[in-house]
Amino acid sequence: MTSTASPSKGQFRDENELYDDINNGGTHEKVSERIRQRLLDRGVSFFANDNVSECIEEGELEELQIEVAEKVGDLLKSLVIDLDNDHNTADTAQRVAKMYLNEVFKGRYHNQPKITSFPNVKHLDEIYTVGPITVRSACSHHFVPIMGSCWIGVKPGKRVIGLSKFARVADWVFSRPHIQEEAVMILADEIERLCEPQGVGIILKAEHYCMKLRGVKEPHCSMVNSVVRGDFRHDPSLKQEFFELVHQQENALSR
Ligand SMILES: [Zn+2]
Repeated sequence: MTSTASPSKGQFRDENELYDDINNGGTHEKVSERIRQRLLDRGVSFFANDNVSECIEEGELEELQIEVAEKVGDLLKSLVIDLDNDHNTADTAQRVAKMYLNEVFKGRYHNQPKITSFPNVKHLDEIYTVGPITVRSACSHHFVPIMGSCWIGVKPGKRVIGLSKFARVADWVFSRPHIQEEAVMILADEIERLCEPQGVGIILKAEHYCMKLRGVKEPHCSMVNSVVRGDFRHDPSLKQEFFELVHQQENALSR
């Protein structure tokens, strides 16, 4: 068996103590700066759709949440919102910081969920598809939701993983700020790393709230894109079979 990921980070310091550290005279280097320096030292990319959990040490996620809450508070103040008297937004900064780090962008700050792969002892080599898997993400350009569905097709290779694990790894990958074109490629990279398939294909269909809520305000517009790797790329009939299977899956659902 091969396992990935390690235990989640524990909370070691009292929140008030951390607030004091951050507020007292600014002698403390910001935790975001410490993490950034570590990333630079190790030459690790930290784009919006990258995972940076390897460079976050124990207890730092809690510190980061406090730092982000302060900055979100500053943003609200710059938006000229009366944080002192408006009961609705009094705790918004803390809520937003927590939501970013532990929910909607958890795929940046938290380790990959534990996924165990097994040797493909039966030498399975027929393709199968999994989907629809719900996609909840946010666009890198506006930080508003991207919501949709994806389908994953696999021609098994050396190792296999459980069906539910595809949904887990997809949720982890999508929970970052993204552009759709890169999101499918990052997910394909992770699936290749986890189970070394002979072929993998992903189709993603999503609605972008930056098009629904603002800008052109097109409420029904969606984007569909795909990525095919390995045998799915080299063998047109296999690629065709993958798209056909997903199509059948979609039709079965809409009945
Ligand atoms: Zn956008």
